[in-house]
Amino acid sequence: MPLVAVIPEPNALVELRDVPNPELEQNSALLDVELSEVCGTDVYLQRGLLEGVPYPLVPGHVSVGRLSKIRGTLPDVEGRPFREGDRITFLDVHRTCNACWYCLVAKATTRCPQRKVYGITYGLDDGLCGGWAQQIYLKPGTRCIRLDADPETFMVGGCALPTALHAVERGDLAIGDTVLVLGSGPVGINAIILALMRGALKVLCIGAPQHRLEAAWQAGASDVLNFEERSEAQRRDWVLERTNGRGADVTMEATGAPDAVVQAMRFTRDAGRVVIVGQYTDHGPMSEDVAFNPHLDLNKKHLDVRGCWGSDFSHFYRAAQIVSDSGRSQAWELLKRKLTRFGLNQANEALAEVSEGRVLKALIEPAAKESVPSA
Ligand SMILES: [Zn+2]
Ligand SMILES: [Zn+2]
Repeated sequence: MPLVAVIPEPNALVELRDVPNPELEQNSALLDVELSEVCGTDVYLQRGLLEGVPYPLVPGHVSVGRLSKIRGTLPDVEGRPFREGDRITFLDVHRTCNACWYCLVAKATTRCPQRKVYGITYGLDDGLCGGWAQQIYLKPGTRCIRLDADPETFMVGGCALPTALHAVERGDLAIGDTVLVLGSGPVGINAIILALMRGALKVLCIGAPQHRLEAAWQAGASDVLNFEERSEAQRRDWVLERTNGRGADVTMEATGAPDAVVQAMRFTRDAGRVVIVGQYTDHGPMSEDVAFNPHLDLNKKHLDVRGCWGSDFSHFYRAAQIVSDSGRSQAWELLKRKLTRFGLNQANEALAEVSEGRVLKALIEPAAKESVPSA
């Protein structure tokens, strides 16, 4: 009987439950979870802010573990079969259909209406489908990825790593670009690392609080600014001073604050590019005193503004590849010191820490001794 941590309904505390062992369908598997993550999305899930979420829900969409049982065959993307005992991660998105208009014509599987996500749109009624659990049931068709890296190195990036990889791809960075990252949470930090890897000359970061800006330095930012101490005009001046008065070539918004979207546009040079990745959850409209001016903020600047929502298999696959490479994985190795681990029955604490921004990355470790239900 695997133990799971469940959000019973919106705005309720997480509780522990024992659930029956699942029956394995043909070509499915069971994963013994080593590490799963706690991210901003989980905070919003607990508050009931995401649409189409079936409660009760076991959160944890990105996880790492070892395959403990396979029924039938489970091949990787190269066609090599997985064996019991292999360490893997898997694409949290399941059941994109490869048959609808979005899958086939737009080639944007993140918009497939059949799309289901482990730990977000699969609830407890769908089986063991979240990572805050001793085991996850990997349904037939789940895209598993072999992980040669140390699990912590992959999980220090967590879901933010493929998300940021997608954002950098959307930003279409050129070698030598000056990139501005708004936000110093996990997506922002990963965006800094990946922008440099993609050839940015320098990356500026505006964020908060201080301990996250230190992570931005560690990730390779050439300059950081704490936005809490500055007005919008001061922040803009700070960017202009570092870009020969022009603004950033590419800006990636990774804040979760609607007002940052128009700031991203104002801090970018004319004919530059803006990627909006920080609005995965609906945070509502900009505040009324942020008067977006279509002529000045967008059209006359000749800006290219791109949305970036979710990630697909290619982003997970590339993420697993780079963190498994000893040369490329160094930034994440350094950031491992910033990880905070919680047992299953500390999930409420973990959510509070993430919600307050007190930790850079919180992980759930179901094998920790704190995972035993307190009698
Ligand atoms: Zn589809
Ligand atoms: Zn996440």
